[in-house]
Formats: sequence, C-alpha cells, structure tokens
Amino acid sequence: MKFLSTRGGEKVTGARAIVQGLSANGGLFVPEKFPQITLEELKSMMFMDYPERATEILLKYLDEYDRKGLLSACRAAYGKFEGKDPAPLVRLDDGVYILELFHGPTCAFKDMALTVLPYLLRKGCDICGITENILVLVATSGDTGKAALEGFKNAEGIRIMVFYPNEGVSKMQKMQMSTQEGDNVNVVAVRGNFDDCQRAVKEIFSGEEYNALLKERGYLLSSANSINFGRLAPQIAYYFSAYLDLVTSHQIALGEEIDFTVPTGNFGNVLAGYYAKRMGLPIRRLHCASNLNKVIYDFLQTGVYDVRREFYKTTSPSMDILVSSNLERLLFEVSGRDTRLTAKRMAALKKDGHYEITPEELAAIRETFDGGFAGEAECVEAMYDVFVDVGYTMDTHTGCAMKVAVDWFEKNKKDETKMVIVSTANPYKFPQDVLYAVTGNDVKDSFKGIKRLHAATAMAVPKQLSALRDKTPRFTRVANADALFEEVLEFIK
Ligand SMILES: *Cc1c(COP(=O)(O)O)cnc(C)c1O
Repeated sequence: MKFLSTRGGEKVTGARAIVQGLSANGGLFVPEKFPQITLEELKSMMFMDYPERATEILLKYLDEYDRKGLLSACRAAYGKFEGKDPAPLVRLDDGVYILELFHGPTCAFKDMALTVLPYLLRKGCDICGITENILVLVATSGDTGKAALEGFKNAEGIRIMVFYPNEGVSKMQKMQMSTQEGDNVNVVAVRGNFDDCQRAVKEIFSGEEYNALLKERGYLLSSANSINFGRLAPQIAYYFSAYLDLVTSHQIALGEEIDFTVPTGNFGNVLAGYYAKRMGLPIRRLHCASNLNKVIYDFLQTGVYDVRREFYKTTSPSMDILVSSNLERLLFEVSGRDTRLTAKRMAALKKDGHYEITPEELAAIRETFDGGFAGEAECVEAMYDVFVDVGYTMDTHTGCAMKVAVDWFEKNKKDETKMVIVSTANPYKFPQDVLYAVTGNDVKDSFKGIKRLHAATAMAVPKQLSALRDKTPRFTRVANADALFEEVLEFIK
C-alpha cells in the first residue's frame, strides 16, 4: 500500500509516511485506497483479543511490516493498560454504550495509538534504511504530550520534545508532563494557545532550512501528532473492536449498522471512525461533539470553516482547538481526491482564516457526519444526569459527547440504531471539574478533588495520577511561539 499527500506530489510507503510524519509540502499522508474488510473477515476477528484485532487492521495499511512483529508490539503496548481489555465497552442504557479508551498509562485515549507508534516508527526506520537519530516534535493540547512522552521515553535512537500552551492545559496535565522521566525527553511550555503551538511546530516541519540544519546534526524530524498516519492507524482498530464486542455480546447482529458519538478536537479520533466505515465496517453515522470552540459544528451546518472567532478556554481543554488538522484528510476525500483544491483551501485557511466547500461536498459529508456542541453548563448537566440516573461517572470531554448524543436521541425518538459514545479520558484527569459536575462541590486543589471524587463515586484512582503529588517538576521552561526552533537546537546540542 502506498500513501499520497493530500496536497499532491508525493507517493511513499507506509513506513516512510510514518517516519516522515508530514509530507514535504505540508500535506497529510493518506492511503492510496481504503483497504476492505469483508463480513467474513469481520467474523473471523470476532473471537480475537484486542492486540490481534489491532494487528489485522494495521496490516491492511502497513503491508511492509510483518505480522509477528506487529502482534508482539501490540501485545506489549496494550499489556501496559489496566485490566484485561484495553478498550472495554460499558452498557449505559438500552442501545447506548460507552467505549472506554482511557485505561492506558496516561489515562487518555491517546495511549491507544501512542503506545504502538514508537514501534511503528523504529521499525519504519529499519524498513527505510534510515540511520539518523529521530527527533519527534509534538504540539499538544494536553493529552498527546504526556502519552507521547511516556510512549517514547528511553526509546533508542529517538528523542522527543513536547510543546504545550502554558495557560491552555489542566493542572493535572501540566504536572503529568513537567514530571516526565526519561533521558531523551524535553518539555517546553509556550506562550499562546494550542493553535499557536501547532502552527509553530508545523512551521519547523515544513521549513527547509530547519530540516537542513537538523540533518547536519544527525537528526531527522518526525511527528507524534495525529497528523502522523501512525497515530491514525491504531485508532481505526478500536472502532472495529467495539463493533465486534457488540456482536459477540449479542447486542447487534453481524452486519447491522451502528452510530458513534466522538468528542472532537483535532478531528483525529472521529476520522479514524470514518476510515473504519470506508473499510467496510457497518457504521451509519458519526456524530462529532465539540465544546464552545464549535468550529466543526458550524462547518457541518454551513460548509464554511472559519477560525476568525473568539477562542474559549473550557473545562474540556483537549478540545480547545480551532484548526482541526485532520479535517484536511476528509476534505481530500470529499473533493474527489483533488490535491490542488485541498492545497488551495489549506492555504486560504492559513492566510485568511477561512474557506468554503461546495454544497455537493457538504451533502456528501453530511451523509455520514453530523455535529453538536456542549456549552459548559450543558456538559455539566449531561455528566450529572448520567451519574444520577445510572451511577456512571465520565470526564468532561465525554460529557460533551454525552450532551450531543442526548440531543440526537431527543430529535430522533424512533431511531433504534445502537449508539456508542467514545470516552476519551479518565475522570480523575480532570478531578475538580468532574467533582463539580457530579456533586456541585468546588475545590481549589486537584488532589483534594481526586480524594473527594473517590469518596463520591468509589471509582478506583489511577496510581499514576495520585503519585504525581509527590513528584518534583523537571521541566519548567516557558518560550515564545516564534522561538521554538532555538529550544530545539538547545535540546539536541
Ligand atoms: C485529544 C483528545 C480529544 C480530541 O481528540 P481528536 O482526535 O483531537 O479529535 C478529546 N478528548 C480527550 C480527552 C483528548 O485527549
């Protein structure tokens, strides 16, 4: 299988696409076609465990990797998760399920891919015969940073540097990153918001002089952001796995269509669902849930993507994003894989802050996607209602998704299609906000929040979060967004 750039020009192998992260012209790598999975193949995956299912999906795209290596990498990755099943499905109500993707080492769904990516990258270098050191640069709205640091820590021949918006992540997220262990890691806070971080990092990737300078020093850049296909591929697997679990537990018949509601920021998670659908998984609709930064929602209503708007800092910080990078992959598909048009739109977005798609393209997108959003109070209400009604506690990002799913049920009372709500973070990652939602109590301190949330819900507290309390930050540097390359040079000196 070969990979193309959404902006044209390049055609590379999967290994190369993963090692490089982003295409040289700034485009994102996409598979030249969607590999298909038949119902027969689905059937054969029914009684596989999660690592085996993930291996099957990965192999469909990454055919130059070997099955044995992939399987043992997936076993090792998902062996780091708490419990037997890395992606358990919880029944909330008749026909409504929560897919819990937060049982990994850093308690957010990013672990689903970032525990596997280091293997894909390392092995990809071997396949491509690359001998340079790899420097992974990450812009994070909070959760990717920690998951990438944890995934890549002490990885041989790889160094990793994470940039996060200084005022844009939760206290817990900041502590998780600033206390990171490992000899090959660095973390820098950036003055500005996530979009500033992401833009600055993308500029380093596409800057020829930057890349030349790094090459001189023996480094090749790669990305652990969801623009890297190596992030997307493992995420496709949990859509399949959730579906298969519904079949094996007799909730649906094989071949029956289901819906997913997905908390959406950079459009990576929900795009993986779209890829699963295009591969033949019986998915009817994908509901995108936003918070107050509802660019995606507005886009799905109007066909106009417009970032010229106020930016809100919300209690679901991992979705505080205006420029959703992975949407480019969807635009590429619905434009009939028109690379020139995709490049033109991305240039317009960068230059003028907006672009518009045609009514036909919008209609095509809306055949599969719809969107909703949750204001802060609506998110709290959704979390509270579920807690009171069925005793289930969810995090704030999942709370936004819950609100959007409830709106859908309200408007479509006769709809009997089963709904899976994708849960992206452990509630203890945002203890104060979750505590407030379920009890109305406000506490000033995160650890007090953890304690009280535990008292209110009796949910187990992940050790890696409670242990943060006794750790001293290693990384305290704050930089301007236009000076990130100097930070990079300092790191690899
Ligand atoms: C990253 C993240 C999201 C958004 O996912 P995208 O793939 O960027 O759309 C939602 N919730 C949580 C908890 C996250 O960490």
